[in-house]
Amino acid sequence: SAKARGGGTYHFFTKTMNESAVARLAIENDLREALERGQFELYYQPKIELASGRLSGLEALIRWKQPGRGFISPMQFIPVAEETGLIGKIGEWVLSRVCQQIHEWDEMGLAPVSIAVNLSPRQLIEGRITETISNILEETGTPASRIILEITETVMMHEIKKSAAILDELRKLGLQIAIDDFGTGYSSLAYLKRLPINSIKIDRSFVRDITTDADDAAITNTIILMGHNLGLKVVAEGVETEDQLEFLREHGCDEVQGFLISEPQPASIIAKQIEQLSHSVAPTL
Ligand code: C2E
Ligand code: MG
Ligand code: MG
Ligand code: MG
Repeated sequence: SAKARGGGTYHFFTKTMNESAVARLAIENDLREALERGQFELYYQPKIELASGRLSGLEALIRWKQPGRGFISPMQFIPVAEETGLIGKIGEWVLSRVCQQIHEWDEMGLAPVSIAVNLSPRQLIEGRITETISNILEETGTPASRIILEITETVMMHEIKKSAAILDELRKLGLQIAIDDFGTGYSSLAYLKRLPINSIKIDRSFVRDITTDADDAAITNTIILMGHNLGLKVVAEGVETEDQLEFLREHGCDEVQGFLISEPQPASIIAKQIEQLSHSVAPTL
């Protein structure tokens, strides 16, 4: 009977599922409010070019500061935003904010940097992403070349034809395209060849153990070689130690990003780093 097979377990799962549905609904309502009340903020994490040690760009990472609850991680709310469709509005806010930031920093006379923006699968596939982005660029007077769109592999594997067509349009607008978390999806070399991309970011789960795990070292090295053979720039994310950095340098990785160089920071702090990093070799390198 069900009871003999563990009725208690069944009850436990049901309760947990109900609770998570309730929690999800609460987050959904809170997310709407967050947009209306301006509770989102963008942090920026530098990317460094290994050959020169200079700043090569930034990645915008969303933060949700909820009064009384502090920071909520995007890992928690982006999936809910994605499921409920709120990601469209949040994504537009992120891109507008990034474009305004580029304008502000240009006005301040800072060295021009490119900024990478993460796009969720649903943002890419649904709605009129090309039109939305081109409108935002036009309204803010932002050159498309200053924006890199980061997209994970997963979406493109499901809707390869549609994705490739959309990415083509975005490339024609002048935007750069990067594959994020590379190696964790269902990558196929044939797909990579078909997609109009500029760079790949090696997932941090491979980078983490490159100096101790021979398999991760081999995978990372292979991704770098393959990327270069396809004419792509290769970026490593999640670089936390000097040893990892040394490995990546020796194996010809183009750019690195990670806590070793800098954690994601608020715009005001990043503005100071842009000044330092774009004119001199980064102190940690
Ligand atoms: P991601 O795009 O792969 O971003 C990298 C994540 O790794 C960030 O987490 C960053 O803070 C973290 N990270 C960077 N360097 C290191 C390191 O050296 N060690 C470790 N342990 N972590 C490092 P974060 O900011 O929590 O973002 C998590 C994910 O949420 C992002 O992964 C991205 O998929 C998503 N996300 C963030 N902002 C946005 C956004 O504006 N729109 C969308 N659609 N997704 C976003
Ligand atoms: Mg990313
Ligand atoms: Mg990533
Ligand atoms: Mg990731």
